[in-house]
Amino acid sequence: GVSVEAAPAAARERHAELAELIEDANWRYYVLDSPTVSDAEYDTWMREIRALEEEHPDLRTPDSPTQKVGAPISTEFAPVAHLQRMESLDNAFDDEELAGWEARARRLIEADPGPYLCELKIDGLAVALVYEKGRLIRGATRGDGRTGDDITPNVRTLRDVPDRLTGDDVPDLVEVRGEVFLPVEGFKRLNEQLMDAGRPPFANPRNSAAGSLRQKDPRVTAQRPLRLIVHGVGKWEGAESPKSQSEMYERLASWGLPVSDRFRIVETLDEVREYIGYYNEHRHDPEYEIDGVVVKVNRIAVQRQLGSTSRAPRWAVAFKYPPEEVTTKLLDIQVGV
Ligand code: NAD
Repeated sequence: GVSVEAAPAAARERHAELAELIEDANWRYYVLDSPTVSDAEYDTWMREIRALEEEHPDLRTPDSPTQKVGAPISTEFAPVAHLQRMESLDNAFDDEELAGWEARARRLIEADPGPYLCELKIDGLAVALVYEKGRLIRGATRGDGRTGDDITPNVRTLRDVPDRLTGDDVPDLVEVRGEVFLPVEGFKRLNEQLMDAGRPPFANPRNSAAGSLRQKDPRVTAQRPLRLIVHGVGKWEGAESPKSQSEMYERLASWGLPVSDRFRIVETLDEVREYIGYYNEHRHDPEYEIDGVVVKVNRIAVQRQLGSTSRAPRWAVAFKYPPEEVTTKLLDIQVGV
């Protein structure tokens, strides 16, 4: 094998320090739904720890935060194993990183990975809904990607979650993935109510959605104006599977599931850039908060060819917009309470 030189003590120490900061932030963010640092600061730590591991590959152990999805599940809900692993997304923070993602994909398949499906990166939380013979049998959070929290009674209270899928091409078993979110208006109203009741408000819409969905008492969830937009599938059995991401969305919509009407299929990376530029200027057009754009290779056969790393698909990338003032301000409020 290849011998790897051991990292110097200073790098090792900084790595351990960052890993601890990140694990602690993960716990507060994913389990307590109450972060104490901004996403921008968290992302800075992630970039620094990744850079350290690039330089000193022996630091990249399987338990490093760079190799994992999310955080351990909470003890308040029953654990549920996903039928297929739920992944995260790799990020691109600028045009160079976006181009790097495309170049890597092109190199791997030795062909043009396009067309691409561009869509908004909704700042909510990922859920998996399992339908057996068209009936909703389970809802779960992403958790660590393999095991999530069983939140079936909670998801059943969402107006957007159909109890039954209709259509003659519904698979015998299908795991639908999507984003549960609170529209910005609902988030503001909820925070006002919480503050009126002398309780701490949520830091951002994402955490308010997570906190609202992961309630011990589903009646509390039912009172929150949570919405759902689906953006993928996991396990799929007993029906012909779609050939493209966009065909998948057409099918999901035809069965009664809420699909975004803001996605676009484009041929080239330049058109991807246009989409990203457009929503950078129109960030507040959607009724929900977005933190970027997700770019997906549209053809499923190419997605399969590209496959995944330990934590994210190679066929998709999240282009993240720079943080906005407002989030920081809200965080200040919460920290001050
Ligand atoms: P991510 O949020 O960067 O991206 C992956 C997720 O995007 C998916 O799981 C999916 O749920 C979601 N998503 C939204 N729209 C989508 C779409 N259209 N198609 C596909 N997926 C879509 O990754 P993550 O692993 O969920 O979280 C990491 C991020 O969370 C960090 O970059 C940081 O911003 C934030 N975070 C913050 C803290 C903190 O303390 N502030 C702590 C942990 C994580």
